Amino acid sequence: MDYRVLLFYKYTTIEDPETFSTEHLAFCKDLELKGRILVANEGINGTLSGTKVATDAYMAQMQADERFQGITFKIDEADGHTFKKMHVRPRTEIVALDLEDDVDPRTLTGEYLSPKEFKEALLAEDTVVIDARNDYEYDLGHFRGAIRPNITRFRDLPDWIKENKEQFMDKKIVTYCTGGIRCEKFSGFLLKEGFEDVSQLEGGIATYGKDPETKGEYWDGKMYVFDERISVEVNQVEKTIVGKEWFDGTPCERYINCANPECNRQFLVHEENEATYLGSCSHECATHEHNRYVKAHHISEEERNNRLENFKELVK
Ligand SMILES: [Zn+2]
Repeated sequence: MDYRVLLFYKYTTIEDPETFSTEHLAFCKDLELKGRILVANEGINGTLSGTKVATDAYMAQMQADERFQGITFKIDEADGHTFKKMHVRPRTEIVALDLEDDVDPRTLTGEYLSPKEFKEALLAEDTVVIDARNDYEYDLGHFRGAIRPNITRFRDLPDWIKENKEQFMDKKIVTYCTGGIRCEKFSGFLLKEGFEDVSQLEGGIATYGKDPETKGEYWDGKMYVFDERISVEVNQVEKTIVGKEWFDGTPCERYINCANPECNRQFLVHEENEATYLGSCSHECATHEHNRYVKAHHISEEERNNRLENFKELVK
């Protein structure tokens, strides 16, 4: 375990995101780091993998920069890189919520809860806990009893809230996400929408899982991460599986992307069923002319037709 994965963000003013991105990419490449960083006028948001020496150098340089004073890094040990390439991209937002009237978390955001306070809120009767992540993240693991907005992109969350507002309006709202950044904006949005009691888990699930007091308790399943690991453990007290296999509903934590390049849906599937159903989420996807599974496994037309029959049995 000579490598690390860093997760970080900071809302701060970056005057010229384009120039910053070019220079920052060169800096990261010098350190042989890999990962994805988004830069905007409103700040920086990133995840990186690299050696201990390289990540130490990166963190030291960032902390020495006035603009990033106080930035916190969530650190995971790893046995190698968890990304293939290094990207630093200028954007209009460091996390895309696409609001017509944008929220600046530096002036408007929900109250911050420590892991311990969040755990108390989880257990409180009068509190509604809303998962601020996407459906496929929730389906692999989530806090016990948390509400699952059925969205596939963060920018769809505001509309989902507007549609379901009445359920939550007079309740205490607590939100959480992977590293905390999505909740910074989302909780600000909730306040703007008229919710009065809004708080967020500071540092996200990543911090809660490592906290010596909470030890990730009341988290079920695994946490989805946006790198080659796909998922990591959170709960150090007990291990449960909440993921359900796409075809047979049995416990499953193995995500693949649908082999139809135009679908690309992420779904949980056992290795055996991946073969049975040609790596596809539906009959339609399995028959797509550019199906990646069929190509990669050199499946003959006859064999393909045989396996397509499996979908028919599924419907019965
Ligand atoms: Zn599909």
